[in-house]
Amino acid sequence: MKINNKFQVLRNNMVQSQIIARNITDINVIKAMQKVPRHLFVDENYYNDAYSDYPLPIGFSQTISQPYIVALMTEELDLKKEDVVLEIGTGSGYQTAILAEIAKEVFTVEKINGLFKRAESILMNLNYKNIFFKNSDGYNGWVEKAPFDKIIVTAAPEDIPESLLDQLKDSGIMIIPLGTCGLSQSLFKVKKAGKKILKEEICGVSFVPLVKDDA
Ligand code: SAH
Repeated sequence: MKINNKFQVLRNNMVQSQIIARNITDINVIKAMQKVPRHLFVDENYYNDAYSDYPLPIGFSQTISQPYIVALMTEELDLKKEDVVLEIGTGSGYQTAILAEIAKEVFTVEKINGLFKRAESILMNLNYKNIFFKNSDGYNGWVEKAPFDKIIVTAAPEDIPESLLDQLKDSGIMIIPLGTCGLSQSLFKVKKAGKKILKEEICGVSFVPLVKDDA
């Protein structure tokens, strides 16, 4: 079997057994997960594990999220093709690619220079033209490009950073894990409606911390 066929088969199985079977229904999310070559976002040693139901190491003590969590977070964002999205924690760049398949533009911020460079190179090789990269502290968001229709945070702070709330459009959606790594952490959907902030718990999760410089 040709190598690309092999990965397409693994990818289809992943989508059937981990994504559709767990009630992800947004067709754009399903199509994106079927298309994006997840194995290219991990080290070659992990190619055969890339479509399995767990996170994988990507170096620098960081991980690429489990496929289902990527799908769930993307579905909860309720992405439209005209949306401009801010992503905090580029990591491998895999979640970035899924967002870029669906939304108009993705602005992604990563603190670790090595990961920022690696993700940028992978995503440029895959020819994405609607992704913009910044090597910076995610607590500051990307103020020059704000406000955003949607914000996704893929590392967990203790509380919602005020600066990110400020950069979310009125009636925008933010998906963010909150809490302490290894203790209690949940994924939240945060909606901004005028001065009101609505916070809805989605499920328990396990993310690396959103690192604070002065921590
Ligand atoms: N969505 C990614 C997962 C990234 S893991 C993927 O599927 O590959 C979380 C990422 O957040 C890591 O790359 C980590 O370096 C980054 N991160 C942690 N604290 C940060 C901060 N303060 N600002 C920006 N990025 C941060």
